[in-house]
Amino acid sequence: MSYQKVKGTQDFYNENSLKMRYIEEKVRSIISNYGFSEVITPIFENTEVFVRSAGDSSDIVTKEMYTFLDKSERSITLRPEGTAAIVRCFVENKLHSTPGIKKYFYFGPMFRYERPQAGRYRQFNQFGVEVYGDSSPYLDTEIILSAYKVFSNLGIKNIKLKINTIGDFKSREDYANALREYFANHLDSLCSDCKKRYEKNPMRILDCKVDKDNEVLLNAPRIKDFLTEESKEYFNNVLKSLDNLEIPYEVDNNLVRGLDYYTDTVFEFIIDGDNEFKGLAICAGGRYADLIKGFGGPDIPGVGYAFGVERVMNIMTVENLFPTLAKEVDVLIISLDNDSKISALKLADKLRDNDLYVELDYKNNNLKPQFKLADRVKPKYIIIIGEEERNSGIYTVKNTVTKTEDKIEVNNIINAIKENI
Ligand code: AMP
Repeated sequence: MSYQKVKGTQDFYNENSLKMRYIEEKVRSIISNYGFSEVITPIFENTEVFVRSAGDSSDIVTKEMYTFLDKSERSITLRPEGTAAIVRCFVENKLHSTPGIKKYFYFGPMFRYERPQAGRYRQFNQFGVEVYGDSSPYLDTEIILSAYKVFSNLGIKNIKLKINTIGDFKSREDYANALREYFANHLDSLCSDCKKRYEKNPMRILDCKVDKDNEVLLNAPRIKDFLTEESKEYFNNVLKSLDNLEIPYEVDNNLVRGLDYYTDTVFEFIIDGDNEFKGLAICAGGRYADLIKGFGGPDIPGVGYAFGVERVMNIMTVENLFPTLAKEVDVLIISLDNDSKISALKLADKLRDNDLYVELDYKNNNLKPQFKLADRVKPKYIIIIGEEERNSGIYTVKNTVTKTEDKIEVNNIINAIKENI
């Protein structure tokens, strides 16, 4: 029997669903001042969309995609990442036909068949941004700044920005040749996947999770020695502007990122606090030069990043960064007979129209269970309605904070409560 959630997935309820929405709302509000507009694409795409973007030798495509044939035998894939779908949408809908830089963001679930562990799930949510149409290093800096601001506004301090350049196409080609030459003598000490990567894209070897501490990888040639003058200057300008904005970073020559499409700037924010998530990437991104062209669009560049919402939530939870999220009950209405329950429904409706959070009891006519309910939900006010109150139109209103009690005419209750809250 399998009435259990699928391995690597999570249910969010109570505090956790509130936390998820808190992060989402904060992020949306911060990002709105940068001019990003939201793109909502389908959760699934034709498989080719992801194969074209991530590259057919990437881990995502070879091992991690949830791919299936639909009833018409089309190969469909649950999206493992956001960039490919946004580029597909951008090109298909000719969003490039109007002038200017285009700034987009997305928020939603991604699916990868990865080995579940702390901070790694098979369904997880990403927030990401993509900007098309400009190849300025200052745009890269602003993109990084926006992620930095999101994290600092959420109170996350223990993270480290790692940044590198993988150069333009010429730099990458020279580097790939140098890596091929170097690894030719060390093939025996590489994992079986890296042997395949050697043939298809040797830069991927540097991104291997299995071989990451292998001496051979640590001593491999570095991209910085193969950069063209333009790429060097580009990267220096990114770093200079980051310095100027006082965004701390560490240049990491080993950072190459797993996907085929990156060029020039690549970066990651890594969790650095003393907790079980230390060392995990919280956000990753970079610039890509020819992805839009590869999808049949014009030759315009893009830059973007994505962060994992669950990882943000994990770190905020262990570092106690969430405010109280559960809404406090403003009013509990206690009713002493069935007609009073109807009056209670009517009053609750009016109070809620005035933005007050109201709870009531639907079943009990006795005081005792209803005061038990009050103990549990801890309202700021308790209103009691019985036959006498209904006949006189004057209700008893208890203030549970000051522990005082007033008789208030029903039409004045809203004002009386709102004045005090
Ligand atoms: P990527 O698309 O692989 O560059 O990942 C971007 C970000 O998404 C990472 O830095 C993580 O925060 C998050 N992420 C990626 N894979 C997972 C996963 N399996 N579970 C949870 N978060 C993930």
